Amino acid sequence: TNEQLSKYEKIEAIVKGFKLPAAAYKRAMTLLNQELNNGLKSQKSNATVLSMFPTFVRSTPDGSEKGEFLALDLGGTNFRVLLVRLNGQEIDIQSKTYLIPQTIMLGTGTQLFDHIAECIGKFVAEHDLISHQLPLGFTFSFPCHQEGLAKAKLSHWTKGFRCEGVVGEDICQLLHEALKRRTNCKVEIVAVVNDAVGTLMSAAHGDRNCEIGIILGTGCNACYMERLDNVHTWNKEEKDFQPKQVIINTEWGAFGDNGCLDFMRTEFDREVDTFSVNPSKQTHEKMISGMYMGEIVRLVLERLTHDQLLFRSVDRECALFERGRFYTKYVSEIESDTDEFFRHTKQVLDDMQVENYTTEDCKIVKYVCTLVSARAAFLAAAGLSTLINRLNKQDMTIAVDGSLYRFHPRFHNLMCLKIKELVKPGLKFRLSLSHDGSGKGAALTAAVSLRLR
Ligand code: ADP
Repeated sequence: TNEQLSKYEKIEAIVKGFKLPAAAYKRAMTLLNQELNNGLKSQKSNATVLSMFPTFVRSTPDGSEKGEFLALDLGGTNFRVLLVRLNGQEIDIQSKTYLIPQTIMLGTGTQLFDHIAECIGKFVAEHDLISHQLPLGFTFSFPCHQEGLAKAKLSHWTKGFRCEGVVGEDICQLLHEALKRRTNCKVEIVAVVNDAVGTLMSAAHGDRNCEIGIILGTGCNACYMERLDNVHTWNKEEKDFQPKQVIINTEWGAFGDNGCLDFMRTEFDREVDTFSVNPSKQTHEKMISGMYMGEIVRLVLERLTHDQLLFRSVDRECALFERGRFYTKYVSEIESDTDEFFRHTKQVLDDMQVENYTTEDCKIVKYVCTLVSARAAFLAAAGLSTLINRLNKQDMTIAVDGSLYRFHPRFHNLMCLKIKELVKPGLKFRLSLSHDGSGKGAALTAAVSLRLR
């Protein structure tokens, strides 16, 4: 009917900003490639948005790595200590997860590193490793300016951490001092990596074609193997050292912070940004990652409800109108509904305290989820396509990790679809779920560096 038609036209008008033509993604690719080059220049200007940190990781594993390593994983949802035993393709991992209390996340750096050292001490004692010489690989998933493989100065905190006195300091030094203060174990910090690098190293252990890593979890970031000749920030005297390559941590979550992505942002992206803890930062990440996707969907649903295009009667006080209350895992659940019963969608709507919804409401809710998640997957795909084209290798494996990629029912397929459309004809690629990048990857990085020493 006419009334329905106009209702759908109104909905379309509200969500159309999420339906981008291929040309928009191509434009994003051109811009990203420029930013990658800008970030690699030695003379950076204020307008440089991508950090493009050289990680000092010069080689991926060759599969022959051996030995016993400790790994730490800080910066995701959990803090973990791991014991990784490497023997060629055989890998044994034991790990324990520890809580980082909110008081420590917002306390001082000394408290944080003392807490970490204490957890290491307990772990080493529990595993009878007190007398062992243990090289340690540290997955520290915050933006760091690295000055060496085991020298990394924190650029700024993200993801809810705000420990005083750490920004600008070498986190390895801080951990080293905390270990000295506390434990009796013989731990040597050999490498710091971020989660993207760990993910890449872990997948590369079994696949020599793997030279790109991406995280699609709380945040979004990527790294790749770059030729040293292109890295103008690299010390010239070291240019001739073999191998002539280094993994670059792009920190591409910040892409768009200079406004260059504004042409593809919606009013909902702007609102998420305004109410975030870091306004006008991490523009690209905010359009993609798990920390924000649910909230974008919620804002669209809120708008549709307000315009009387969705849910006939909802209580103003219901959870749907609470910021941050619509979790990204709901998006995965809703999109996993494939029939007209909308079992998961109904569960979510119940949880959001929406009453009297119709099947048509469920359809609209699912539609909004598919649009927001597809844009995220396509934008991530555009980023990867930029890197694939840049590396220009016949076969490229991309290591992927993060709950968004892991659990969203269509993310993998959507990404593959879009990458096929965007990469140079003839280049083949594979997206490979990386297992335990932050543990195994950190240990492998330590092992590779000991091999190259
Ligand atoms: P981190 O990135 O913090 O190391 P994860 O990779 O587990 O850890 O990512 C956590 C993020 O993934 C959360 O922000 C959450 O929104 C999102 N997430 C968790 N479960 C799901 C799911 N089932 N589907 C989609 N996203 C999810």
